[in-house]
Amino acid sequence: MDDIKQHIRTIPDFPQKGILFRDVTTLFAHPAGLRMAVDGLLTPWVGARIDAVVGLEARGFILGGAVAHQLGCGFVPVRKKGKLPAATHAQDYALEYGTATVEIHTDAIQPGQTVLIVDDLLATGGTAEAGIKLVERLGGQIAGCAFVVDLPDLGGRRRLEALGMSVHALAA
Ligand code: IMP
Repeated sequence: MDDIKQHIRTIPDFPQKGILFRDVTTLFAHPAGLRMAVDGLLTPWVGARIDAVVGLEARGFILGGAVAHQLGCGFVPVRKKGKLPAATHAQDYALEYGTATVEIHTDAIQPGQTVLIVDDLLATGGTAEAGIKLVERLGGQIAGCAFVVDLPDLGGRRRLEALGMSVHALAA
């Protein structure tokens, strides 16, 4: 099997000087790369009960939609503040400078439903933790969190595992 990392390019100094940005648009554009990513994300949950995939804006929508299709379940977006049209719950989380807010529709998940959280990349884990809190506020049970890339030096895996999450990533 071809290595997923060969399809991900690294862009220095984006969005700010000193940051090495992992650009997964090249992975998404490659037919075998995209399939490898989607198949790899869902593999641990084949045969498990997953009622919904929750995708984190924005690249989690592309991956999460495909994963949900393959698992035969629904897809629920966690969006940046102000984008969802119906009633929402909001969750703030810390950025390097300041805070951001993500939202979920209050009726997107029913209590007791089992959810898989999907995003392209795990760095500090702040974004994923905000998604987890929103799902838990609706009474959803989280089966796990799946990412294409985990940047282990930034501590996201430890942070999510400390919350009792099962973390699955395809590349470091
Ligand atoms: P965290 O909240 O620090 O874990 O950052 C993860 C979030 O920021 C995810 O939604 C990613 O899409 C995005 N992100 C952070 N760094 C990168 C990167 O290098 N490439 C692509 N996305 C990134």
